[in-house]
Amino acid sequence: MKVLIVEDEKALAKEVCKFLEKGFYLCDIAGTATDATDLMEVNQYDFILLDLGLPDKDGLLLLDDTKKLCPDASYIILTARGDLEDRIKGLDLGADDYLAKPFSLLELQSRMQAITRRKSGNNDPVIELGEFNVDLNKRAIKHQSKEVDLSRKEFDLLSYMLLHKNRPLTRFQLSEHIWGNFNDEDYDSNYIDVHIKNIRKKLSAYAPVEWLQTLRGIGYKIKL
Ligand code: CA
Repeated sequence: MKVLIVEDEKALAKEVCKFLEKGFYLCDIAGTATDATDLMEVNQYDFILLDLGLPDKDGLLLLDDTKKLCPDASYIILTARGDLEDRIKGLDLGADDYLAKPFSLLELQSRMQAITRRKSGNNDPVIELGEFNVDLNKRAIKHQSKEVDLSRKEFDLLSYMLLHKNRPLTRFQLSEHIWGNFNDEDYDSNYIDVHIKNIRKKLSAYAPVEWLQTLRGIGYKIKL
């Protein structure tokens, strides 16, 4: 999943980025509202973490502007400004959550996971996938009680598709959200196909994977 951290405190932005990149996330950092807008024009983000006190613009104004640029992104406001009025304004403008600084990185991560689950309609972190169980928090997939050994990227790919189940996902979308930025000539290489093939091979040793569908000329879909 792709995250844009809009934060002018460089050390904090880097710390958040480093922490999130250990998990399921890829991060870009913008130190100003202008940089943030430029990045949002060319990238699709799953999350935008937004500091309200930016040097060139109030974060609340940026939120209002950028909802149009990244309508599918989830927004979390990160701010030292803890007052109720800002909080309400942010939520009214469409932010999904609000964390007052200083915040714990683990809390940030668990709020992000909760938003992802809520938006995908899965209240439970453990999701049934055919005969398999996927635990999004523990990052594990099991058949009955046996854990299936997927690589980190294979798991990222599978869970991203699962969170967007029943939707056709193009190879380009999958590359963007799982691998990050690519040059145009890179993305049509077949590494997404290779990863899907490996996932199919590993899982079908345990049970059928007919829910993992190839859409010819388009990409892939998990149909549940
Ligand atoms: Ca700031």
